[in-house]
Amino acid sequence: MSKSEALWQRAQKFLPGGVNSPVRAWRSVKGKPLFIERAKGAKIYDVDGHEYIDYVCSWGPMIVGHAHEEVIEAIKHTASKGTSFGAPTEVEVELAEMIIKAFPSIEKVRMVNSGTEATMSALRLARAYTQRDKVIKFDGCYHGHADSFLVKAGSGLATLGIPASPGVPEDLTKHTISLPYNDLSGVEDVFVQIGKEIACIIVEPVAGNMGVVLPEEGFLKGLRRVTQRYGSLLIFDEVITGFRVSWGGAQVHYGINPDLTCLGKIIGGGMPVGAYGGKKEIMSLIAPEGQVYQAGTLSGNPLAMSAGLATLKILQRPEVYKELEKKTKQLTEGIKQAAKETGISLQINQIASMFSLFFNDRPVTDYKSVLKSNSDMFIKYFYGMLKRGIYLAPSAYEASFVSLAHTDEDIKRTIEAVYHTFKEIKE
Ligand code: PLP
Repeated sequence: MSKSEALWQRAQKFLPGGVNSPVRAWRSVKGKPLFIERAKGAKIYDVDGHEYIDYVCSWGPMIVGHAHEEVIEAIKHTASKGTSFGAPTEVEVELAEMIIKAFPSIEKVRMVNSGTEATMSALRLARAYTQRDKVIKFDGCYHGHADSFLVKAGSGLATLGIPASPGVPEDLTKHTISLPYNDLSGVEDVFVQIGKEIACIIVEPVAGNMGVVLPEEGFLKGLRRVTQRYGSLLIFDEVITGFRVSWGGAQVHYGINPDLTCLGKIIGGGMPVGAYGGKKEIMSLIAPEGQVYQAGTLSGNPLAMSAGLATLKILQRPEVYKELEKKTKQLTEGIKQAAKETGISLQINQIASMFSLFFNDRPVTDYKSVLKSNSDMFIKYFYGMLKRGIYLAPSAYEASFVSLAHTDEDIKRTIEAVYHTFKEIKE
């Protein structure tokens, strides 16, 4: 028995489903997960000593590659001085300044411990600011697992194929309206009916949790316009896209200023982190400046702050985003070519260093079209790539990420693996 299998048996005795987050159990690819021992650069190694080129990148945070020397040094240096004080530190102020400089729409920011905490707190703040309860989200967008968002959510829940989680009170979800992504007129219709009751729209400005789905021309601008007209807030959930789509996230790329922004993943450099920020006028409602309660024993944790800061310092260097985009384009063009040569019907949605493949012959623009993709084909693809040394997210509904550590050789090897996998699928 492999070490991974032995650990999997043990894990299932002690952890629900053997994991601490559902997608890790590989249920949607009908398999058993690999247990990971270590990772360096673009490579990840399982406990049985196999090496893989990693496109999961811990679901987004590892944009500079795994165990980057500067990030590890920063963590070590900070850890040697103590791991948590529950008191203000310089490094949290430094990271806040860096985030505010990068995001023109953010004037003040509050650090939390996960993306879930960021979106949950931003929603509370939006409700307090507008004194309204209702929230609009979009089918297939995932905003973490707070009760208000577990309504036809994507990612984990989409994979499990259930519309919402047991344990979430209907009394709460009745305030959440989930609409098709990219359907601006659907949003406008709801505003015409109950616009004055809507506290906010929350949206992934590039969806990353139903695979990558790009906003169509005018969609985000339309959301900005309609929220302004009705006095609702626009929340961009940039937990994935922040510092990924560009230095200033998707909002700078598309030129839209949301009222509030949620961040996570990259700003923690692989440590547990989240943050939400926005206009001073709104952020000043948060305790202790205002009355909206939100707190955290480990919020602004020095290890997380210094890992995040070290990561952002690397991303701030010239040409970094160009390089990431170039590598990703090289990869997606290679994959397209492999699909053409092997006769596989494929759609690729890509922006900057994130992309998804859909086994689909029509453009993928919303959750409905995502679900029309061939999921059996995805499973074959996943295992074909795995046996050729490529580690992908074990679900068709996830984004793939390219890091600064992926070399031309890694990209070339990946394209070869795609070509041979596609050929095998066709046989
Ligand atoms: N928002 C988005 C867009 C996400 O992708 C995620 C997680 O994948 C979250 C929120 C929740 O973040 P976390 O898993 O850190 O709670």
